[in-house]
Amino acid sequence: MDFARRIERLRAQLDRLEADAFISTSSPNVRYLTGFTGSNGQVLLSAQRGAFFTDGRYERQAAHEVPDLERFVYPAEFAVAFAEVCRQLGLSRVAFEAEDVTVSSHEAMGKTGVDLVPTRQVVEGLRWVKENAERALLGDAQAIADRTFEEITGRLREGLTERELALDIDTTMRHLGAEAVSFETIVAFGENGAEPHHAPGDRSLRRGDMVKMDFGALMGGYHSDMTRTVAFGEPSGELRDVYEVVGRAQQAGIDAIREGVTGGAVDEASRGVIREAGFDRAFKHGLGHGVGLQIHEGPSLRRGGADVLPKGAVVTVEPGIYLDGVGGVRIEDMIEVLSDGAAPIPTAPRELIVL
Ligand code: ZN
Ligand code: ZN
Repeated sequence: MDFARRIERLRAQLDRLEADAFISTSSPNVRYLTGFTGSNGQVLLSAQRGAFFTDGRYERQAAHEVPDLERFVYPAEFAVAFAEVCRQLGLSRVAFEAEDVTVSSHEAMGKTGVDLVPTRQVVEGLRWVKENAERALLGDAQAIADRTFEEITGRLREGLTERELALDIDTTMRHLGAEAVSFETIVAFGENGAEPHHAPGDRSLRRGDMVKMDFGALMGGYHSDMTRTVAFGEPSGELRDVYEVVGRAQQAGIDAIREGVTGGAVDEASRGVIREAGFDRAFKHGLGHGVGLQIHEGPSLRRGGADVLPKGAVVTVEPGIYLDGVGGVRIEDMIEVLSDGAAPIPTAPRELIVL
């Protein structure tokens, strides 16, 4: 990972932000800029200088992971150390991440009289386009999820509970080398599939159930995200039709992706298929989101969304239809944005699998 290049890209924005330095406090942004993987670190960057802050728990780790920046290990509170370093460096206007800093921390950071300039989505915006090394980690994470899907579909049996299957998915990913799971695994059987984000419970698997699974693996800090809905035994005609519509909607979304289109246009391409089939009200969420150091990041694919997709972004396309009392179907894949189209990252089949 080329941290120096990322830092230069951030520095290039200081003029536009009318600030003489930028303080990044959000963990994924700090990791992106410095490579620091601990849970508490902050990085201050002026045009010439850089300072990294952490507490005593991470002193050694920071020395190893962030060797090129001057490091400040503070005994108690980041804000106090920050204010002191701003004074030492003679900084007067410092841009900060308004979506991350709490009101109370903001008060303490401003104590020595430095002007704090609120900003939004500055480092997040740099993160949209994935470098080759990042794209490779996303692929590694997804490869684990693909293999997990293949393995666990062979282990579905009557009587298995949602919770047991979720645990099996999680441990399979860990056995296959995942650092962690990307997010809490979603497993929904039968009518529970009507909830987009059902928390796995005691419902046991019965013949005729659709099984919706949304899960991902973490590799090198990068998240994968995939949903598959399979049929355990022959599904009803209604659910077969729903599956077919969701599959077409997903393909329409993928087909609409290329460099320069808006997230809103991609959402509409997919949503239109669901609307024409008469299920508009049953598609209850946005079409997709960027994935990377966070499971949900930009650009966003949602109704009316104005984010313009750049080449090299990786987004999910995940239409769903949810019918109360009946069940639900969602199919989700990670897609890389290309200059003239899109390249799906997963290899797991998207056609309906009947077990
Ligand atoms: Zn998902
Ligand atoms: Zn997702």
